Formats: sequence, structure tokens, C-alpha cells
Amino acid sequence: MNILERYHAMDYGPAPETRNEADAWLAARDFSKALFIGGDWKAAAGGKTFDTSDPSSGKLLAKVSDAGAADIDTAVAAATKALPKWSASSGYSRAKVLYAIGRAMQRHQRLFAVLESIDNGKPIRESRDIDVPLAIRHFIHHAGWAQALDRDFPDQKGVGVVGQIIPWNFPLLMLAWKIAPALAAGCTVVLKPAEFTPLTAILFAEICQRAGVPKGVVNIVHGGPEAGAAIVNHAGVQKIAFTGSSEVGKIIRKATAGSGKKISLELGGKSAFVVFEDADLDSAVEGLVDGIWFNQGQVCCAGSRLLVQEGITEAFIAKVKTRMSRLRVGSPLDKNTDIGPLVDLTQLDRVKGLVAEGARQGAVCWQPDVALPSSGYYHLPTLATGVSPANILAQEEVFGPVLATMTFRNTEEAVELANNTRYGLAASVWSENVNLALHVAPQLKAGVVWVNGTNMFDAACGFGGYRESGFGREGGREGMFEYFSAKLPLGPVVKPATPGAQPVEQAESGAIDRTAKLFIGGKQVRPDGNYSLAVASAKGKLAGEVGLGSRKDVRDAVAAARACKAWPEATAYNRSQVLYYLAENLSGRAGEFAVRLTELTGATAKAARDEVELSIERLFLYAGLADKFEGRVHQPPARAVALALHEPVGVVGIVAPDNAPLLGLISLLAPALAMGNTVVAVPSEKYPLLATDLYQVIEYSDVPAGAINIVTGRSAELGGVLAWHDDVDGLWLFADAETCAKAEADSVGNLKRVWTGNGRSLDWTSTEAAGDAFLRRAVEVKNVWVPYGD
Ligand code: NAD
Repeated sequence: MNILERYHAMDYGPAPETRNEADAWLAARDFSKALFIGGDWKAAAGGKTFDTSDPSSGKLLAKVSDAGAADIDTAVAAATKALPKWSASSGYSRAKVLYAIGRAMQRHQRLFAVLESIDNGKPIRESRDIDVPLAIRHFIHHAGWAQALDRDFPDQKGVGVVGQIIPWNFPLLMLAWKIAPALAAGCTVVLKPAEFTPLTAILFAEICQRAGVPKGVVNIVHGGPEAGAAIVNHAGVQKIAFTGSSEVGKIIRKATAGSGKKISLELGGKSAFVVFEDADLDSAVEGLVDGIWFNQGQVCCAGSRLLVQEGITEAFIAKVKTRMSRLRVGSPLDKNTDIGPLVDLTQLDRVKGLVAEGARQGAVCWQPDVALPSSGYYHLPTLATGVSPANILAQEEVFGPVLATMTFRNTEEAVELANNTRYGLAASVWSENVNLALHVAPQLKAGVVWVNGTNMFDAACGFGGYRESGFGREGGREGMFEYFSAKLPLGPVVKPATPGAQPVEQAESGAIDRTAKLFIGGKQVRPDGNYSLAVASAKGKLAGEVGLGSRKDVRDAVAAARACKAWPEATAYNRSQVLYYLAENLSGRAGEFAVRLTELTGATAKAARDEVELSIERLFLYAGLADKFEGRVHQPPARAVALALHEPVGVVGIVAPDNAPLLGLISLLAPALAMGNTVVAVPSEKYPLLATDLYQVIEYSDVPAGAINIVTGRSAELGGVLAWHDDVDGLWLFADAETCAKAEADSVGNLKRVWTGNGRSLDWTSTEAAGDAFLRRAVEVKNVWVPYGD
């Protein structure tokens, strides 16, 4: 054998990571007292435990305390007790604690990595080089936010006691994403890790003790869905931060509806990995390995849908198969392992089932000829070709090492296929033409887009999704906002409308009879049902009639709002000019609007003029801010920039309040429009004539057809239709408490972003009823990562 032959015959030898320290730690701990509550270790009140085992062998690792409702009560009580002191402590002192946590984790970095790999099955290379360093970076980064609160978030206050529930795929990293911003914001937490992977959270609790985290600030409880539900439903918790499946996310959205709890949901995904024909194919193959086989594909943002441009499909798939044949499947503690076991037998069975079903539906599933270890929950990397867009492997989150491949012809088709999913978490775009990549990135409905890369994360850059991938962001500036309580000027309690109870007498004699229509797609249209609603003046006379909008009218209005491309695609400068023009035209009719306000609401002439003036001022404000509430450029510790772009949420439903019926409506419409959203507005049920007067102004203010749609009628009913509608992306609702709660519960279809006043309106005249707090709700932050260098 000559040297060359020897070189080619060389194979990897075993390179095991030592597990002595982890075994010693496991042996020394009493896991029957694993609940970390109020700074002490406690057994579950019911004495129950659950098993956590090593997925590479199935062997039991520990029997861990299983918290019940009584333990959650104790943990919430501890967090509540610790809250006043912690939230009042200086940013500097909280920063020191966060920094101390980060440093203490650094000192035990290897132990964390080994425990994570033993408990979860992820290759040590990943836990050692990615999970643990990123978790540490999160704490150190957020130490800075704790101290910069006054500078960067003036007037914001921590939301209070936070319940946090995390999954098993990145146990320590998800814990860090949750705990670090909460502590920085001055909140105290009750966190529940997933029942498959409790170990690194237990070690983390030890770190908290050593790092001087005050008792009760961090409480860590263990258990399954029951313990999770007890946290979600606990009245002492002000916010729920959840990462996990879309299914459970929807349960949580429903369970918290009407409770006033703030929630953020980081859910599943079905991310597209788009390869254009001018991509560097070898780099793209390496990216793909990372995109779908990182952590065995058990990654929320896994690039599980490969979309390849037709001309290169054959060549690219051949390269992928060659690379797959070289993936090393084996012990998670071997430093050469690429693919470890799945987390649990249930997960393995689920993945096998989905692959079988995908094949039954016509996909061709290919696996490399690689030997699997004799024990453990291993699944071979799998490439599915011939996948139709409706195939289960193209639609369902498999959460395993399975890649579904489809092809596209041109850029439009790539975007269409990429967006053909109910999820919207991440996407990856490969092209050597950065212009093309940056043309495509904003068109992808995903919270994160990586150009010529994948799975890039950093504590300074927000992460999170759209649609059924949930809402809210983790990391960076936008992540901090998830832990502040909304500071808005509360207005009156909204009473439920009493349909039919309005005493309406004859119209004033001499008034010309007029029925205001709905305003849909830029046109005045009759309501579908041809019913109308009588509107009373303040004196109880008939002031006019408006169309009684129905479900069908809302659907038409949503379709018109969706079809309007001119508004979201207009430049911010252009939108700004249209809003200025709207203000100008409203000002030309200010007198008329003031008279109308007085007639309908009984407001004094001065109060009515003030409301109109303030409405014009507010239009001016948002016209001016349209091109100023911009994104940012992050410079993460990588050879990349991350562009945090502000994008419109999409189609936003607005149910406007009765108090200040013109100002309230405009205070909601204007920020939504300024950021490029199209709107379906349901104006005040009691005083809708102001909105129908307004659309006459809209008609000659250069607002593109479909950008603003106005459906008059019963607020509760129309708000309910907007909540159900799966093509509405956001809903802002100022109605009675029951309508608000119902809208939140009914929004689970597409997990739209719902913002309600929880039965209260706002004081619309306050300066706090305008500005960034509204603009933030009108945008999604999309982080587009662009690497640089050769
Ligand atoms: P899961 O939803 O089954 O469980 C997540 C957590 O919720 C666990 O701690 C579980 O005990 C708890 N839970 C289960 N039922 C509950 C209930 N009814 N009430 C309250 N809590 C409950 O998800 P999983 O299988 O652990 O994790 C996989 C999922 O997580 C995937 O869908 C993945 O995409 C998602 N994920 C998302 C992100 C993200 O940032 N978007 C990150 C990682 C994982």
C-alpha cells in the first residue's frame, strides 16, 4: 500500500469525549429534590418523579421530581415575593448577576456540553461549540441590556412574574433565551424545561446559587404538560413565554385569552432552503448539512424543504447524496459524530411514521448505506425527492433528519413555493448574486432569512416567526420588549353594545335621507345582506343610516386588503406623502367633522374641534414617522451583518372604540398604514358616520384601492369574523372584555397577532396613545443575515 492508498483508506477512529465529570455529577445529586424554588431544592409535593434517559442507549439517567399544581403555586409565590426587590434593584446590580451567571457557566462549559449530549442525544460537537457558547453569550449580552434600560427603554417596566416553558431540542439554549432577557428587564421567573431533558436546567439552577441570583428570582420546576398548564393558567403569572410545538402554542393562546397575560410563542417551522442555479453548490451542500441534519433535524428552523432551481437539480442532488453517505451516525459523545439519536423512542416512531406516509403519498425516500448503532433511537438521514407541494413531508414539521425536495423554474416560483406553508419561521437563500438574494429575502414570509448560510444565531439579533410559527421575538432589542408591560394610557371600560336598544326617533326635518355604504377595495359598496343600521344623534334623533356589514362583507374587505400590493410595496416616502395628503384633506373639512362629532356624541363644539385637530395632528405624526421607524443593522460576532428589517404585519383588522370615535379610529389606522399594512377597519358601532364621512376624504387622498377598507356594523360580530379569518395577520381590538377574550381565543387558526384593550379603551388624547408603542405593533422584525468575505 503506497502513501496515497493509505491516505484514502484512512477512517476516523473513535474520539470519545470523557463523561467522568458528568457521571460524578449524576451520581452525587438527589434528583428527587430537583425543584429549584425560592433558592432551595425541593421534592414535588406529591412525591412524584419522572424518568429521564440517555437516547443513545435508552438507559435511565435520573428520576426527577415531577411538579404538580401545588409546586407551581409555591414557585409562583416565591417569584412573586422576590419581584419587588429584584425589579427595584439597579440595572447595574442586575447586570452583575447576569454577568456572574455567564462567567460561572463558562467555568463549567464542558460539563454543560456533556450533560446536554447525554440527555438529549445531540452530538458533542454541537453542544460544545454551539449550544453552550451561545447560551453563555446570551447572559453576557443581556447583562448589558439590564444596565442600559434607562438609556434604551425609557419608561418601560418589567412585566412581573413570568412563566416560561421550553422544549427539549435546545434545552440550555432555550433556557438562556428565556431567562436572560426576563432578568435583565427586572422580571422574576418560573421556568419549566421539557420532560425529556431536565438535566442542564438543574445544573443551571446550581449555577444560579453560586452566581448570587437572589432567592426566588429564578425558579425551575420540572414536569410535563400538566405542570406546563398549571403555569399557563396561574393567576399570579403576568406573562407566558413559550417555545414548543404549534399545537401546544394554540392551546396556550386559547387558555390565556382574556386573562390579560402577555404571551410570546416561538413555535414550529417548515423552513425553505432555496438554491438558485448560480449558487456555489459545494457551499450550499455544506449549508444543507447544517440546515437539516444539525441536531438530527430536531430544529424549529431546520431547512427541511429544499427548493432547487431546475437546471441544477440533478447535479445538486448527486452532491447531496455523496455528502450524506459521508455523514457519521453514532454516539453523541464521539467528537466525530454528525448525527446522534433522536431524543426519544416516541419521536423516532413519529419520524418513521411520517416518512412512511410521505412515501405512500408518492415521495421517493433515499437513505445512505450507513450502519446504525445497535441500540438507541437513531434514524438515518433521509432525502425525499419527487415530493409534491401537498405531500405530508412538504407540509408537516417532521422534526427529524428528513429533507423534502422540490424544484422551481424561476424566482417567482421559488418565492411562491417557499411561502406555501402555514409556518413562517426561517428561510435560507443561496445565490452568488447578492442582489437576487436580497430581492428574494424580503418576499419570504419568515422571521429570519439567511443568505448563503443557515442557522446563524446571536443574542443581539432577534429570532422568531410569523403565522403558525408564532409571534414575538427572542434576542436583541426586540426580544427585550417581550418582557416589558405595555405602558398605555388606559381609558374607559368598554360596555358591550346592546343591539336594537338605541332609541331612534324621526330624523330632523329637512335632512336629506342618506345611507352610507361600506368602503371596500376603494369603492362604496352596499352591504351584502342589504340591511342597514340606524345611527342615533346625541339627542336621540336619527342621524343617518349605515350599512350593516356581515361576514361576507368582511371576507370581501380582507380579500381587497390582501390584493392591494400598491400600498405595502410603496416606498415609505410615498406612504408618508399620502398620509400627509389625507391630513391636509381632513383639515379642509375639519369644521364639518367637528359638527358631526357634536351631533353624534354631544361633545361641546370646542371638544369636537379639539378631537378633529388632534386627529389631523396624529395623521401628520405618522406621516412623518413612516420613513423613520426603521430597522437596524446588527454586527454579530461573525463575518456577517444581520439586517433587522421592519416589515408590515400584513392585513390588519381594526375594531375601533366608541370613545373619541374619530381620534380613536385614526390613532389605530395611521400607524398601521404608515408601516405599509393594509387595513380592514370596523369603526365605532355607535358613531360610524364619522368613518363613513372619512372614506369620502380617503377617496380623494391618493390612497390606493384596498389599502383602507371600512365595514360598518356590529363590532363584536365583525371583530369575531376578523379573529377567525385566516388571511388576517393582525387584529387590534378595542371592545368589551368578552369580545376581546373571544377574539384572542378565536385567533388560533393562523395565530394572528392580536392586540386588545382587554375591555378597556385608551385615552386617545394622551401623547402616550401615539408613537413607537403603536408602530412596534404594526411591524414584524425580519432579520436577514448576510455573510461577507471570501
Ligand atoms: P411541545 O409543544 O410538545 O412541548 C414544549 C413544552 O411544552 C414542554 O416543556 C412540554 O412539557 C410543555 N407542554 C406540553 N403540553 C403543554 C400544555 N398543554 N400546556 C403547557 N405546557 C405544555 O414541543 P416539543 O416536542 O418539546 O418541542 C418541539 C417543538 O418545539 C417543535 O415544534 C419545534 O419547532 C419547537 N421549537 C420552536 C423554537 C422556536 O424558537 N420557534 C425553538 C425550538 C423548538
